[in-house]
Amino acid sequence: MTVTWLAQKCLLIVHYHPANNMNSMNGFSWTDFEMLRRTPLATMGIFTSSYCPVGCAHCAVSASSDSLAPSPDLLMRGVEEMVQVSELKAVAITGGEPFAEFELLESLVDTMHKANKRVVIYTSGYWGKSDVLQQVSPVLQFADGLVLGIDLYHRAHIPAEDLINALRTAKEFEVWVTAQVISGIDGEAHLAYARQLFQNAFGPEWHQDAHIIEMPPLPSGRAEHIDSFNQFNGSYAERCYSVNGPTLLRDGTLAACCNEDIVLHNGPDALKIPHQGGFSQSLEKLESQPTLGHLRRTPPAALASLAAQCLDSTDYDQSVRMCQACWDFVEAYSQMDDSQLERFDEMVNLYHQIQNSPLELVSDV
Ligand code: SF4
Ligand code: SF4
Repeated sequence: MTVTWLAQKCLLIVHYHPANNMNSMNGFSWTDFEMLRRTPLATMGIFTSSYCPVGCAHCAVSASSDSLAPSPDLLMRGVEEMVQVSELKAVAITGGEPFAEFELLESLVDTMHKANKRVVIYTSGYWGKSDVLQQVSPVLQFADGLVLGIDLYHRAHIPAEDLINALRTAKEFEVWVTAQVISGIDGEAHLAYARQLFQNAFGPEWHQDAHIIEMPPLPSGRAEHIDSFNQFNGSYAERCYSVNGPTLLRDGTLAACCNEDIVLHNGPDALKIPHQGGFSQSLEKLESQPTLGHLRRTPPAALASLAAQCLDSTDYDQSVRMCQACWDFVEAYSQMDDSQLERFDEMVNLYHQIQNSPLELVSDV
């Protein structure tokens, strides 16, 4: 399941029924998880690997059955330190397909459970086939939620009956389920498929057991070559909440967020700390980055625009994708001298003053 754990990438559309509480089970709902993501370090991510036996054509992390290694022990050592972070309330486990490395997943979920942290797993649901299904209870008994990529791309690889088995099994364990559906490109067809699946799994009252979020297509990984994904346009002048939750990678690297390129070790160095002295040391280093503080407070497109003005007074096209704006900002920030940085800070403060000012009607003009 692609790593876009929940939807700070904006244009998020949630389909739910007013009669339910967004699938609140075990006292922790999808809404609770989303709200936690507004607070720095209240959530974190674990990217197990880009190993996945499914092999979708649109996979944003190019997951395949070739990629495993290095050792999961390094990841587990980081996780043992991660759960000591007092601010941490919930963890999103992503990949790749976390269920395809079952022992590792079981250890992760068990560690989180013992540390009293909530767990949400991003998965394809491929494990709904009968020979794998019996093995999943040690994981589902301690998981709080599953986010499944349910769309026509996944349908090409995962039979609907396997997915229905997975969904019903999740319900037996009182694990809430969310379908993450691609929007924008053939969005209605993807949506119709997800709705039909939920209906087949849970019946006409499926809203009580599941809901759907729509996400814009991500032109990363194998999807980089899908023209329609690249052509997708929208407003990206939003804040990034993913930057509140660092993501631990299998080799011990700590990424600032869950961006698909960053977890594959691409993108700006300022957004990832290589493994050196352990998780706590990496976290401290990451948290001391001034760019991170800016990204937690201000939309990346605004930051990129202000940084461009400080550097060379050029206009910045704020309609670019959020992560592109973020990378442009990080790059521009690294090029600023002291006086430009000072001016930049002033401009950011001014930006927030304007944002927070009440609109006043001007009369008698
Ligand atoms: S299920 Fe598909 S999209 Fe998800 S990680 Fe596997 S190959 Fe990628
Ligand atoms: S790359 Fe930047 S904008 Fe994108 S998820 Fe990471 S921190 Fe957020």
